[in-house]
Amino acid sequence: MKSRKVSQVIEPKLVVEGADVLLRRSFGPSRTNLFDPFLLFDHFAFNDPIEGPITGFPTHPHRGIETVTYMLQGNVRHRDSLGNTGIIGPGAVQWMTSGRGILHEELPKRGPDGRVDGFQLWVNLPAALKMSQPRYQEINADEIPVITEDGASVRLIAGKFEGQTGTATEIAIQPLYMDVTLDAGASFQIPIASGSAAMAYVFEGEGVFGPERDREGEYIESIRMVIFSDGDLIQVQASPAKDVRFLLIAGNPIQEPVVPYGPFVMNTEDEIRQVFEDIKNGTFAKDSAI
Ligand code: MN
Repeated sequence: MKSRKVSQVIEPKLVVEGADVLLRRSFGPSRTNLFDPFLLFDHFAFNDPIEGPITGFPTHPHRGIETVTYMLQGNVRHRDSLGNTGIIGPGAVQWMTSGRGILHEELPKRGPDGRVDGFQLWVNLPAALKMSQPRYQEINADEIPVITEDGASVRLIAGKFEGQTGTATEIAIQPLYMDVTLDAGASFQIPIASGSAAMAYVFEGEGVFGPERDREGEYIESIRMVIFSDGDLIQVQASPAKDVRFLLIAGNPIQEPVVPYGPFVMNTEDEIRQVFEDIKNGTFAKDSAI
């Protein structure tokens, strides 16, 4: 098997989005679409309990994408034009397929220790599904399989690992999304389809990412986004001194033109113009406003 090498290490940049929401952004939507099928990766960054209130993301629309929210601490209260409402609590996931359109609000709230820790990934939809019906997968923390072996603990949100299947299913890009914790010195590997895009978001500790023969190389310390080159195996080793924790995310590239505009990602400029026409005409989330 060909072990994937690290092709890029990204240091997330602090950005402010919505109403004063501080985020660590690894990458955002771009026509260059370098991380196809992934469009954006953000990490909530409210770790100072004395920072004051968090206003969050007041009502806003989406079309043409999926947003995947995974919380570690604190929660996100969610409400949308379909009439859905809920709280994404610690360890829970919301896999939201906007399809043709939803309007929603996302309001982060601190946990008991004053922290909000969580992630949002944007996944592209193929042209054939950009105008599909909106769909939600609300996944409670206890619905996510946990696989423990040889110093590794894996929460399997989507995809397959060791004969188990993650909870989020029927996603166009056939994603792998797992939260992996390795004990100090432990090794981990997973076969992964050649041709898929793969990345690891390292948010605790440090480890060596890539092939066995590169293991004299540098440790990658949190917090970093690691992008892998092609191959059919991913290997990680925690440093001997401390545990490492990372999200491992992979999916099949869509290989279509991408035209992003704020919370919309379509294939052409005409389709972006149509979004604004639909909003003006009151037909944007018409079918979903049941
Ligand atoms: Mn949103």
